[in-house]
Amino acid sequence: MHPFAYARPHDEAQAVALVAEPGSTIIAGGTELLNWLRLGITRPDNIIDIGRLPDRANIGLEDGFLTLGALATLNQIGEHPTVGEHARVLGQACLLAASAQVRNRATIGGNVLQRTRCAYFRAAEPLPWACNKRAPGTGCPARHAMNDEHAIFGWTDDCVAVHPSDPLVALAALDADVDLVSPEGARRLPVGKLHLAQQEAKAIGHDPATQETVLRHDEMITGYRVPLLPGARSAYLKVRERQSYAYALATAAAVVQMDGDTIQSIRVALGSVAQRPWRLLRAETSLPGNRLSADTVREAVQWDLDEARPLSGNAYKVRLARNTAVRAIMAAVES
Ligand SMILES: Cc1cc2nc3c(=O)[nH]c(=O)nc-3n(C[C@H](O)[C@H](O)[C@H](O)COP(=O)(O)OP(=O)(O)OC[C@H]3O[C@@H](n4cnc5c(N)ncnc54)[C@H](O)[C@@H]3O)c2cc1C
Ligand code: SF4
Repeated sequence: MHPFAYARPHDEAQAVALVAEPGSTIIAGGTELLNWLRLGITRPDNIIDIGRLPDRANIGLEDGFLTLGALATLNQIGEHPTVGEHARVLGQACLLAASAQVRNRATIGGNVLQRTRCAYFRAAEPLPWACNKRAPGTGCPARHAMNDEHAIFGWTDDCVAVHPSDPLVALAALDADVDLVSPEGARRLPVGKLHLAQQEAKAIGHDPATQETVLRHDEMITGYRVPLLPGARSAYLKVRERQSYAYALATAAAVVQMDGDTIQSIRVALGSVAQRPWRLLRAETSLPGNRLSADTVREAVQWDLDEARPLSGNAYKVRLARNTAVRAIMAAVES
Protein backbone atom coordinates (compact mmCIF):
# COMPACT_ATOMS: atom_id res chain seq x y z
CA MET A 1 0.00 0.00 0.00
CA HIS A 2 1.14 3.53 -0.78
CA PRO A 3 2.39 5.18 2.46
CA PHE A 4 0.41 8.20 3.66
CA ALA A 5 0.40 10.78 6.44
CA TYR A 6 -2.63 11.00 8.74
CA ALA A 7 -4.11 14.12 10.35
CA ARG A 8 -7.17 14.66 12.48
CA PRO A 9 -8.23 18.33 12.45
CA HIS A 10 -10.23 19.57 15.42
CA ASP A 11 -12.10 22.40 13.75
CA GLU A 12 -13.41 23.24 10.31
CA ALA A 13 -10.81 25.93 9.50
CA GLN A 14 -7.99 23.47 10.17
CA ALA A 15 -9.77 20.79 8.11
CA VAL A 16 -10.28 23.13 5.14
CA ALA A 17 -6.58 24.10 5.11
CA LEU A 18 -5.41 20.47 5.31
CA VAL A 19 -7.84 19.21 2.66
CA ALA A 20 -6.61 21.87 0.24
CA GLU A 21 -3.03 20.55 0.35
CA PRO A 22 -2.02 18.59 -2.79
CA GLY A 23 -2.34 14.82 -2.36
CA SER A 24 -4.91 15.10 0.46
CA THR A 25 -8.05 12.98 0.74
CA ILE A 26 -10.82 13.18 3.31
CA ILE A 27 -11.81 10.19 5.39
CA ALA A 28 -15.12 10.30 7.28
CA GLY A 29 -16.58 6.86 8.12
CA GLY A 30 -13.97 5.12 5.96
CA THR A 31 -16.37 2.44 4.66
CA GLU A 32 -15.58 3.35 1.06
CA LEU A 33 -12.12 4.93 1.21
CA LEU A 34 -10.50 1.93 2.92
CA ASN A 35 -11.70 -0.30 0.06
CA TRP A 36 -10.16 2.07 -2.47
CA LEU A 37 -6.82 1.96 -0.64
CA ARG A 38 -6.94 -1.84 -0.61
CA LEU A 39 -7.82 -2.10 -4.32
CA GLY A 40 -5.41 0.64 -5.43
CA ILE A 41 -8.22 2.90 -6.69
CA THR A 42 -6.65 5.87 -4.92
CA ARG A 43 -3.20 6.63 -3.49
CA PRO A 44 -3.41 9.69 -1.24
CA ASP A 45 -0.30 11.18 0.37
CA ASN A 46 -2.31 12.67 3.26
CA ILE A 47 -5.49 11.33 4.80
CA ILE A 48 -7.49 13.98 6.62
CA ASP A 49 -9.83 12.44 9.18
CA ILE A 50 -12.83 14.76 9.60
CA GLY A 51 -14.75 12.21 11.67
CA ARG A 52 -14.50 14.19 14.90
CA LEU A 53 -15.30 17.68 13.66
CA PRO A 54 -17.75 19.22 16.14
CA ASP A 55 -21.46 19.70 15.30
CA ARG A 56 -21.22 18.11 11.87
CA ALA A 57 -23.51 15.20 12.71
CA ASN A 58 -26.44 17.44 13.64
CA ILE A 59 -29.92 16.87 12.24
CA GLY A 60 -32.60 19.52 12.77
CA LEU A 61 -35.05 22.10 11.45
CA GLU A 62 -34.00 25.62 10.48
CA ASP A 63 -35.98 28.35 8.68
CA GLY A 64 -38.19 26.00 6.67
CA PHE A 65 -35.45 23.46 5.94
CA LEU A 66 -34.45 20.09 7.31
CA THR A 67 -30.69 20.33 7.86
CA LEU A 68 -28.27 17.42 7.92
CA GLY A 69 -24.60 17.63 8.87
CA ALA A 70 -22.22 15.77 6.56
CA LEU A 71 -21.09 13.49 9.40
CA ALA A 72 -24.59 12.25 10.25
CA THR A 73 -24.58 8.51 9.68
CA LEU A 74 -27.15 6.67 7.58
CA ASN A 75 -28.58 5.05 10.73
CA GLN A 76 -28.82 8.39 12.56
CA ILE A 77 -30.71 9.90 9.61
CA GLY A 78 -32.87 6.82 9.01
CA GLU A 79 -33.95 6.62 12.64
CA HIS A 80 -34.40 10.34 13.30
CA PRO A 81 -38.06 11.27 14.00
CA THR A 82 -37.73 14.68 12.30
CA VAL A 83 -36.53 12.99 9.12
CA GLY A 84 -39.42 10.52 9.37
CA GLU A 85 -41.87 13.38 9.70
CA HIS A 86 -40.54 15.72 6.98
CA ALA A 87 -38.52 13.55 4.58
CA ARG A 88 -39.74 9.99 4.95
CA VAL A 89 -38.24 9.07 1.58
CA LEU A 90 -34.74 9.96 2.81
CA GLY A 91 -35.09 7.96 6.02
CA GLN A 92 -36.26 4.95 4.04
CA ALA A 93 -33.40 5.28 1.54
CA CYS A 94 -30.83 5.44 4.34
CA LEU A 95 -32.21 2.37 6.12
CA LEU A 96 -32.35 0.36 2.88
CA ALA A 97 -28.64 0.98 2.25
CA ALA A 98 -25.87 -1.46 3.20
CA SER A 99 -26.05 -3.34 6.54
CA ALA A 100 -26.71 -2.07 10.08
CA GLN A 101 -22.97 -2.21 10.87
CA VAL A 102 -21.99 -0.26 7.75
CA ARG A 103 -24.78 2.28 8.31
CA ASN A 104 -23.39 3.01 11.79
CA ARG A 105 -20.13 4.24 10.21
CA ALA A 106 -21.26 5.45 6.78
CA THR A 107 -21.80 9.21 6.67
CA ILE A 108 -24.15 11.10 4.37
CA GLY A 109 -21.19 13.24 3.23
CA GLY A 110 -19.21 10.20 2.09
CA ASN A 111 -22.24 8.33 0.76
CA VAL A 112 -22.85 10.63 -2.19
CA LEU A 113 -19.15 10.39 -3.12
CA GLN A 114 -19.01 6.61 -3.20
CA ARG A 115 -18.10 5.26 -6.61
CA THR A 116 -19.60 2.77 -9.00
CA ARG A 117 -19.98 -0.92 -8.22
CA CYS A 118 -18.98 -1.86 -11.80
CA ALA A 119 -17.06 -5.11 -11.32
CA TYR A 120 -14.39 -4.09 -13.83
CA PHE A 121 -13.75 -0.93 -11.81
CA ARG A 122 -13.66 -2.69 -8.43
CA ALA A 123 -10.83 -5.13 -9.25
CA ALA A 124 -7.58 -5.08 -7.26
CA GLU A 125 -4.36 -3.78 -8.73
CA PRO A 126 -2.72 -4.75 -11.02
CA LEU A 127 -5.92 -4.35 -13.03
CA PRO A 128 -6.42 -7.52 -15.09
CA TRP A 129 -8.49 -5.72 -17.75
CA ALA A 130 -9.18 -2.33 -19.27
CA CYS A 131 -11.32 0.30 -17.53
CA ASN A 132 -11.41 3.96 -18.58
CA LYS A 133 -12.31 5.03 -15.05
CA ARG A 134 -9.30 3.28 -13.50
CA ALA A 135 -6.84 3.68 -16.37
CA PRO A 136 -7.98 6.41 -18.77
CA GLY A 137 -7.75 5.52 -22.44
CA THR A 138 -7.71 1.73 -21.96
CA GLY A 139 -11.36 1.14 -22.96
CA CYS A 140 -14.64 0.09 -21.39
CA PRO A 141 -15.20 -3.68 -21.36
CA ALA A 142 -18.66 -3.22 -19.85
CA ARG A 143 -19.84 -1.38 -22.97
CA HIS A 144 -20.29 -4.69 -24.84
CA ALA A 145 -19.83 -7.38 -22.16
CA MET A 146 -21.04 -7.67 -18.55
CA ASN A 147 -23.39 -4.69 -18.33
CA ASP A 148 -26.66 -5.98 -16.86
CA GLU A 149 -26.39 -3.62 -13.85
CA HIS A 150 -25.19 -0.61 -15.83
CA ALA A 151 -26.71 2.59 -17.18
CA ILE A 152 -29.73 3.12 -19.40
CA PHE A 153 -29.43 6.94 -19.39
CA GLY A 154 -26.64 9.44 -19.94
CA TRP A 155 -23.78 7.05 -20.81
CA THR A 156 -21.17 7.34 -23.53
CA ASP A 157 -19.00 4.67 -25.16
CA ASP A 158 -16.27 5.72 -22.70
CA CYS A 159 -18.13 4.49 -19.62
CA VAL A 160 -21.56 3.04 -18.85
CA ALA A 161 -21.34 2.94 -15.05
CA VAL A 162 -24.11 3.97 -12.64
CA HIS A 163 -23.95 5.68 -9.26
CA PRO A 164 -25.00 3.22 -6.55
CA SER A 165 -26.15 5.52 -3.72
CA ASP A 166 -29.63 5.19 -2.22
CA PRO A 167 -29.76 8.43 -0.14
CA LEU A 168 -28.55 10.52 -3.09
CA VAL A 169 -31.68 9.56 -5.06
CA ALA A 170 -33.94 10.64 -2.20
CA LEU A 171 -32.03 13.92 -1.76
CA ALA A 172 -32.44 14.61 -5.48
CA ALA A 173 -36.21 14.00 -5.38
CA LEU A 174 -36.44 16.26 -2.32
CA ASP A 175 -34.70 19.10 -4.23
CA ALA A 176 -32.06 19.26 -1.50
CA ASP A 177 -29.01 21.51 -1.64
CA VAL A 178 -25.49 20.44 -0.71
CA ASP A 179 -23.26 22.86 1.23
CA LEU A 180 -19.57 22.99 0.39
CA VAL A 181 -16.60 24.79 1.90
CA SER A 182 -13.05 25.40 0.64
CA PRO A 183 -10.30 27.99 1.23
CA GLU A 184 -12.25 30.20 -1.21
CA GLY A 185 -15.33 30.18 1.04
CA ALA A 186 -18.69 28.45 1.09
CA ARG A 187 -20.94 27.59 -1.83
CA ARG A 188 -24.27 25.83 -2.17
CA LEU A 189 -25.41 23.61 -5.05
CA PRO A 190 -28.60 21.68 -5.82
CA VAL A 191 -27.79 18.02 -5.05
CA GLY A 192 -29.05 17.19 -8.55
CA LYS A 193 -26.20 19.28 -10.02
CA LEU A 194 -23.40 17.66 -7.98
CA HIS A 195 -22.92 14.61 -10.24
CA LEU A 196 -22.41 14.39 -13.97
CA ALA A 197 -23.71 11.73 -16.32
CA GLN A 198 -20.98 10.73 -18.78
CA GLN A 199 -22.69 12.65 -21.61
CA GLU A 200 -22.77 15.80 -19.47
CA ALA A 201 -19.06 15.54 -18.58
CA LYS A 202 -18.26 15.13 -22.27
CA ALA A 203 -20.44 18.10 -23.24
CA ILE A 204 -18.39 20.40 -21.00
CA GLY A 205 -15.08 19.07 -22.29
CA HIS A 206 -14.18 16.70 -19.44
CA ASP A 207 -13.25 13.04 -19.50
CA PRO A 208 -16.65 11.23 -19.44
CA ALA A 209 -15.25 8.27 -17.50
CA THR A 210 -13.38 10.04 -14.72
CA GLN A 211 -15.20 13.36 -14.21
CA GLU A 212 -18.06 12.19 -12.00
CA THR A 213 -18.89 15.36 -10.04
CA VAL A 214 -18.45 19.12 -10.15
CA LEU A 215 -16.71 19.04 -6.76
CA ARG A 216 -13.26 20.61 -6.68
CA HIS A 217 -10.40 18.78 -4.98
CA ASP A 218 -10.19 21.35 -2.17
CA GLU A 219 -13.91 21.28 -1.37
CA MET A 220 -15.49 19.57 1.61
CA ILE A 221 -19.18 18.79 2.03
CA THR A 222 -20.44 20.33 5.26
CA GLY A 223 -24.11 19.33 5.02
CA TYR A 224 -27.44 19.37 3.19
CA ARG A 225 -30.62 21.48 3.30
CA VAL A 226 -33.92 19.88 2.40
CA PRO A 227 -36.79 22.34 1.79
CA LEU A 228 -39.91 21.46 3.78
CA LEU A 229 -42.88 20.90 1.48
CA PRO A 230 -46.23 21.30 3.28
CA GLY A 231 -48.41 18.22 3.07
CA ALA A 232 -45.95 16.31 0.89
CA ARG A 233 -45.94 12.53 1.07
CA SER A 234 -42.98 10.51 -0.02
CA ALA A 235 -41.64 7.00 -0.47
CA TYR A 236 -38.49 5.18 -1.58
CA LEU A 237 -38.49 1.85 -3.36
CA LYS A 238 -35.38 -0.25 -3.90
CA VAL A 239 -35.36 -3.31 -6.16
CA ARG A 240 -32.43 -5.65 -5.67
CA GLU A 241 -31.52 -9.30 -6.11
CA ARG A 242 -32.02 -10.09 -2.43
CA GLN A 243 -33.90 -8.24 0.26
CA SER A 244 -31.00 -7.15 2.43
CA TYR A 245 -27.42 -6.01 2.12
CA ALA A 246 -27.40 -5.61 -1.64
CA TYR A 247 -26.98 -2.74 -4.03
CA ALA A 248 -29.93 -1.82 -6.19
CA LEU A 249 -30.86 -2.86 -9.70
CA ALA A 250 -33.20 0.13 -9.79
CA THR A 251 -34.63 2.51 -7.23
CA ALA A 252 -37.20 5.29 -7.20
CA ALA A 253 -37.80 8.18 -4.82
CA ALA A 254 -41.16 9.96 -5.08
CA VAL A 255 -42.38 13.14 -3.38
CA VAL A 256 -46.03 13.99 -4.05
CA GLN A 257 -48.44 16.73 -2.98
CA MET A 258 -52.12 15.89 -3.41
CA ASP A 259 -55.21 18.09 -3.53
CA GLY A 260 -57.97 15.58 -2.75
CA ASP A 261 -57.51 12.89 -5.38
CA THR A 262 -55.73 15.26 -7.79
CA ILE A 263 -51.95 15.44 -8.09
CA GLN A 264 -50.82 18.93 -7.14
CA SER A 265 -47.05 18.48 -7.55
CA ILE A 266 -44.75 15.53 -8.03
CA ARG A 267 -41.02 14.87 -8.06
CA VAL A 268 -39.56 11.51 -8.98
CA ALA A 269 -35.93 10.40 -9.24
CA LEU A 270 -34.64 7.05 -10.42
CA GLY A 271 -31.44 5.52 -9.03
CA SER A 272 -28.96 2.97 -10.41
CA VAL A 273 -29.93 3.83 -13.98
CA ALA A 274 -27.30 6.55 -14.65
CA GLN A 275 -24.21 8.10 -13.13
CA ARG A 276 -26.48 10.52 -11.28
CA PRO A 277 -30.06 10.41 -9.98
CA TRP A 278 -32.36 10.61 -13.00
CA ARG A 279 -35.37 12.91 -12.52
CA LEU A 280 -38.46 12.02 -14.54
CA LEU A 281 -39.09 15.54 -15.77
CA ARG A 282 -41.79 14.68 -18.30
CA ALA A 283 -43.87 12.92 -15.65
CA GLU A 284 -43.20 15.77 -13.20
CA THR A 285 -44.51 18.30 -15.72
CA SER A 286 -47.45 16.37 -17.10
CA LEU A 287 -48.96 14.76 -13.98
CA PRO A 288 -49.98 17.81 -11.88
CA GLY A 289 -53.69 18.56 -12.33
CA ASN A 290 -54.52 14.92 -13.15
CA ARG A 291 -56.54 12.60 -10.96
CA LEU A 292 -54.30 9.97 -9.47
CA SER A 293 -54.50 6.52 -11.03
CA ALA A 294 -51.84 3.88 -11.64
CA ASP A 295 -52.63 3.95 -15.39
CA THR A 296 -52.17 7.74 -15.66
CA VAL A 297 -48.94 7.58 -13.69
CA ARG A 298 -47.61 4.65 -15.75
CA GLU A 299 -48.33 6.44 -19.01
CA ALA A 300 -46.54 9.61 -17.85
CA VAL A 301 -43.52 7.72 -16.49
CA GLN A 302 -43.28 5.77 -19.74
CA TRP A 303 -42.63 9.03 -21.66
CA ASP A 304 -39.45 9.48 -19.66
CA LEU A 305 -38.45 5.83 -20.08
CA ASP A 306 -38.92 6.13 -23.86
CA GLU A 307 -35.68 8.16 -23.75
CA ALA A 308 -33.73 5.24 -22.23
CA ARG A 309 -30.84 3.69 -24.19
CA PRO A 310 -30.37 0.19 -22.79
CA LEU A 311 -27.15 -1.75 -23.33
CA SER A 312 -26.79 -5.33 -24.61
CA GLY A 313 -27.54 -6.86 -21.20
CA ASN A 314 -29.90 -4.50 -19.42
CA ALA A 315 -33.03 -3.97 -21.52
CA TYR A 316 -34.91 -5.41 -18.53
CA LYS A 317 -34.04 -2.25 -16.59
CA VAL A 318 -36.31 -0.04 -18.69
CA ARG A 319 -39.45 -1.85 -17.61
CA LEU A 320 -38.11 -2.40 -14.10
CA ALA A 321 -37.36 1.31 -13.69
CA ARG A 322 -40.82 2.26 -14.96
CA ASN A 323 -42.58 -0.13 -12.61
CA THR A 324 -40.38 0.92 -9.67
CA ALA A 325 -41.25 4.58 -10.28
CA VAL A 326 -44.98 3.87 -10.55
CA ARG A 327 -44.96 1.82 -7.35
CA ALA A 328 -42.95 4.48 -5.48
CA ILE A 329 -45.43 7.20 -6.52
CA MET A 330 -48.43 5.11 -5.48
CA ALA A 331 -46.72 4.18 -2.19
CA ALA A 332 -45.98 7.85 -1.48
CA VAL A 333 -49.63 8.82 -1.94
CA GLU A 334 -50.82 5.92 0.20
CA SER A 335 -48.35 6.69 3.02
C1 LIG B 1 -20.64 -3.64 2.27
C2 LIG B 1 -21.20 -2.32 1.87
C3 LIG B 1 -22.47 -2.24 1.35
C4 LIG B 1 -23.00 -1.00 0.96
N1 LIG B 1 -24.27 -0.93 0.46
C5 LIG B 1 -24.79 0.30 0.12
C6 LIG B 1 -26.11 0.43 -0.37
O1 LIG B 1 -26.86 -0.54 -0.51
N2 LIG B 1 -26.55 1.68 -0.68
C7 LIG B 1 -25.77 2.81 -0.52
O2 LIG B 1 -26.22 3.92 -0.77
N3 LIG B 1 -24.51 2.70 -0.08
C8 LIG B 1 -24.02 1.48 0.24
N4 LIG B 1 -22.74 1.38 0.69
C9 LIG B 1 -21.88 2.55 0.63
C10 LIG B 1 -21.80 3.27 1.95
O3 LIG B 1 -23.04 3.85 2.25
C11 LIG B 1 -20.73 4.33 1.75
O4 LIG B 1 -19.50 3.63 1.70
C12 LIG B 1 -20.70 5.34 2.87
O5 LIG B 1 -21.89 6.07 2.97
C13 LIG B 1 -19.55 6.30 2.64
O6 LIG B 1 -19.46 7.15 3.75
P1 LIG B 1 -18.13 7.18 4.61
O7 LIG B 1 -18.34 8.22 5.64
O8 LIG B 1 -17.75 5.83 5.10
O9 LIG B 1 -17.13 7.67 3.49
P2 LIG B 1 -15.54 7.49 3.39
O10 LIG B 1 -15.21 6.10 3.02
O11 LIG B 1 -14.89 8.08 4.58
O12 LIG B 1 -15.29 8.46 2.14
C14 LIG B 1 -15.82 8.15 0.86
C15 LIG B 1 -15.44 9.26 -0.11
O13 LIG B 1 -16.08 10.48 0.26
C16 LIG B 1 -15.13 11.49 0.55
N5 LIG B 1 -15.70 12.25 1.66
C17 LIG B 1 -16.21 11.74 2.80
N6 LIG B 1 -16.79 12.73 3.52
C18 LIG B 1 -16.62 13.87 2.81
C19 LIG B 1 -16.99 15.23 3.01
N7 LIG B 1 -17.67 15.63 4.10
N8 LIG B 1 -16.65 16.14 2.06
C20 LIG B 1 -16.00 15.76 0.93
N9 LIG B 1 -15.60 14.50 0.70
C21 LIG B 1 -15.93 13.56 1.63
C22 LIG B 1 -13.84 10.76 0.86
O14 LIG B 1 -12.70 11.54 0.56
C23 LIG B 1 -13.95 9.60 -0.11
O15 LIG B 1 -13.60 10.05 -1.39
C24 LIG B 1 -22.21 0.16 1.09
C25 LIG B 1 -20.91 0.07 1.62
C26 LIG B 1 -20.41 -1.15 2.01
C27 LIG B 1 -19.01 -1.21 2.57
S1 SF4 C 1 -18.45 1.07 -17.16
FE1 SF4 C 1 -16.96 2.63 -16.52
S2 SF4 C 1 -16.20 1.74 -14.62
FE2 SF4 C 1 -17.10 0.04 -15.74
S3 SF4 C 1 -15.52 -0.85 -17.08
FE3 SF4 C 1 -16.49 0.73 -18.26
S4 SF4 C 1 -15.19 2.53 -17.89
FE4 SF4 C 1 -14.76 1.10 -16.25
